Amino acid sequence: MALTGIQIFKLLPKTNCKECGVPTCLAFAMNLASGKAELDSCPYVSPEAREQLAEASAPPIRPVAIGKGVRAATTGGETVLYRHEKTFYNKTIYAALVKADIAEADLKAKLAAWNAYQFERVGLNLRPEMIALKDAGDAAAFAAKAKLIAETSEFNLVLMSESIDAMKAAVDATKFKRPLIYGATAANVDAFGALAKETGLPLAVKAESIDALIPLTTKLTEMGLKDIVIDSGSREVKQALQDQIVIRRAALKAGNRALGFPTITFPCEMASNLDVETMIAAVFTAKYAGIVVMSDFKGESIFPLLLERLNIFTDPQRPMTETQGIYEINNPNENSPILVTTNFALTYFIVSGEIEGSRVPSWLLIKDSEGLSVMTAWAAGKFSGDDVGAFVKKSGISDKCKTQELIIPGYAAAIAGDVEEELPGWTITVGPREAAHIPAFLKGRQAA
Ligand code: SF4
Repeated sequence: MALTGIQIFKLLPKTNCKECGVPTCLAFAMNLASGKAELDSCPYVSPEAREQLAEASAPPIRPVAIGKGVRAATTGGETVLYRHEKTFYNKTIYAALVKADIAEADLKAKLAAWNAYQFERVGLNLRPEMIALKDAGDAAAFAAKAKLIAETSEFNLVLMSESIDAMKAAVDATKFKRPLIYGATAANVDAFGALAKETGLPLAVKAESIDALIPLTTKLTEMGLKDIVIDSGSREVKQALQDQIVIRRAALKAGNRALGFPTITFPCEMASNLDVETMIAAVFTAKYAGIVVMSDFKGESIFPLLLERLNIFTDPQRPMTETQGIYEINNPNENSPILVTTNFALTYFIVSGEIEGSRVPSWLLIKDSEGLSVMTAWAAGKFSGDDVGAFVKKSGISDKCKTQELIIPGYAAAIAGDVEEELPGWTITVGPREAAHIPAFLKGRQAA
């Protein structure tokens, strides 16, 4: 459980030396308790006090790093039940299931197809991270397929086997990729725990219920393991969802350290078709799965999940922004129209998408408005006529395009006069209010 400021103060040197940047140890303790200071700012904390404080300030749900390379990810580390209370930190990891008895050519074909599911949105590459490889009873095939995935793809791995020998061989072939070992059960917890400890790899633990998980995670923790992922065993949607919520609440509200770990869920074992699986995965993305294992990745399932995840795992207090500048859409030339809007990522995303869809070659100028949408930015003085005019002048668009006409968003019609003053010789045209009307607007101008 978190310590209070006074409890933290008792562990500090109480010399008031000010080196941490505040006048007293008490002030520092208060800042530490409220998360406004880092323990490392005080160089004089004794090792014993540091251990106690680090333990007390550790996140209630352990962050667990899985994988290596561009698709490495961390799961867990969450501190709130609801995103609006602060933010969610580590996005749900998506994995696709494959059985180790798959033919090598088929596996390669799946890897190529799954690798192609990468989507550029708001400056980010959205893609799934993992493959869950399930042992089909042949240890050599399990290790060989694990090796193939680890060595020839960017995907990271969940290694699924109940056999410690098969797991050891697969771990041996792939440990450079930091796979997740799945998983320890009451029957094999000692052997799997020892393997995870020896290799330093994260370990998933499965039980038949939340209650049955507690002695297992307690035992693994006593063995010195920290990077644990938990599976409450339910494969029935309602119960599995309830488990996710109970686990999250127990860790955050009751300070139950035995359940303070990210979870793994298996929509692939809860539905008979990918559409239903995708809906279940969408629910678990919102509440509160660390890892979601699907039976397959298809564009129509993984794309909406990635978008949902993007929206849930962004900081609600920091709007997503696009970089200020000139964006070329549909190969514009020196006679193409010039549009301007704000740098709120969603605005950029929607406006650029509509222009692209219109197939009209255009220049889109994105002005820094601190991530606010058009109306909000205008109301807050971040998209005033003077500012927009000055930005257009400085942007360098005149070097690329002879068109001296600027199309401003319909919702910012009020700035037209000021922009005109700032840009002598330019025509300022008020564009549509809604982005959805941009294609008709642009095509109408072309036809005129
Ligand atoms: Fe106290 Fe440490 Fe800050 Fe010095 S640096 S005032 S000892 S908390």
